[in-house]
Amino acid sequence: MRPIVYGRADDLAQASRLGSQSGQGQTDAPVQFLAGGTSLIDLMKLDVLTPERLVDITPLHASHAAIEAGPNGLRLGAFAKMSAVARHPAVLADYPAIAESLQLAASAQLRNMATLGGNVLQRSRCTYYRDTSWTACNKRTPGSGCAAITGFNRNHAVLGVDQSCISQSPGDFGVALIALDARVELNGPQGPRLIPFSTLHRLPEGQPHIETTLKPGEVITAFHVPAGGWTSRSVYLKVRDRASYEFAIASAAVALEMDGDQVRQARIGLGGMAYRPWRSHEAEAVLTGKPMTEANAEAAATAALSGAVTHGNNDYKPELGRRTLVRALMQARAMPIKTAEN
Ligand code: FAD
Ligand code: SF4
Repeated sequence: MRPIVYGRADDLAQASRLGSQSGQGQTDAPVQFLAGGTSLIDLMKLDVLTPERLVDITPLHASHAAIEAGPNGLRLGAFAKMSAVARHPAVLADYPAIAESLQLAASAQLRNMATLGGNVLQRSRCTYYRDTSWTACNKRTPGSGCAAITGFNRNHAVLGVDQSCISQSPGDFGVALIALDARVELNGPQGPRLIPFSTLHRLPEGQPHIETTLKPGEVITAFHVPAGGWTSRSVYLKVRDRASYEFAIASAAVALEMDGDQVRQARIGLGGMAYRPWRSHEAEAVLTGKPMTEANAEAAATAALSGAVTHGNNDYKPELGRRTLVRALMQARAMPIKTAEN
């Protein structure tokens, strides 16, 4: 039995004060925020996360769960439940990739409990991370090595990895956020700030135990998704080992702004492939100004996976990632889009 101090935060100031030792995603951080608890409690039961203090931030749901859609874009309160955002009419109509990334995640029960903020901060599903009988895991125990490099790495990442960690970013929602240029609203001991979502998660860079660029005590309060001519023609395509209640082995979030048959602008995110939610500017550059043909989609997908590094069991992933992206691009092209004329 380990004693745990429980504290309840009724407002942001209290959350930052009680959570001042929350760290930057380190597994051994002495403080963890409790939102939906669907990832945190699991890992506490497995003795992976062993916080001395839990800061219950569920009371913030009352003030930070609003879903607002306006001419400048979407603002999603970080305490909104995944299910509420997935079924919101404005999200479904104008940001389908966001709605699909949430609908296709986890199970109905989990989506009713889990929050958006907790989703983007959920931990690795790497078996060696989640099972403490494996001693070599740099993410859990800095400097101990990485059992997955020579172990069973079928589900591990092929982009953004190094020899310190090849873990795959497990979430779906973050892939849609990164494709759509989202920003993250934070509040901490130094006050509020807004950062690009693309800068929230770090690459391993030899220190995979430091997962985020959050400052200690900072709480995610909202996500901003800017409006743009591409958001309504957007798709989240997820490939997994079974049709529901399963993490992605490959996914793509794609958004296109078309001018007739030509791609005016493309936004492309990849999931199941990378260490963190992954944006492919390379693939976007291949498509911009070109007709949205299957041949051009294949060229874009080849560019997106060109830097892939595999480790044996995951040798299949770059090809699966390419095919997933081509399919997502073709689906986005075929989407019927409502205009003022129709
Ligand atoms: P918690 O478990 O409460 O917290 C998770 C982490 O985030 C903790 O470290 C906590 O300190 C921190 N945190 C939470 N909120 C904040 C905040 N606002 N500010 C700062 N820190 C915060 N996810 C997918 O995307 N796709 C899937 O297919 C999928 N399948 C799943 C299947 C199973 C069986 C399970 C158990 C989970 C699955 N998930 C999947 C993960 C699930 O979506 C996450 O567990 C959930 O989104 C986490 O949200 P939460 O509110 O419960 O977070
Ligand atoms: Fe740990 Fe990362 Fe290696 Fe998995 S891949 S064992 S999380 S260091």
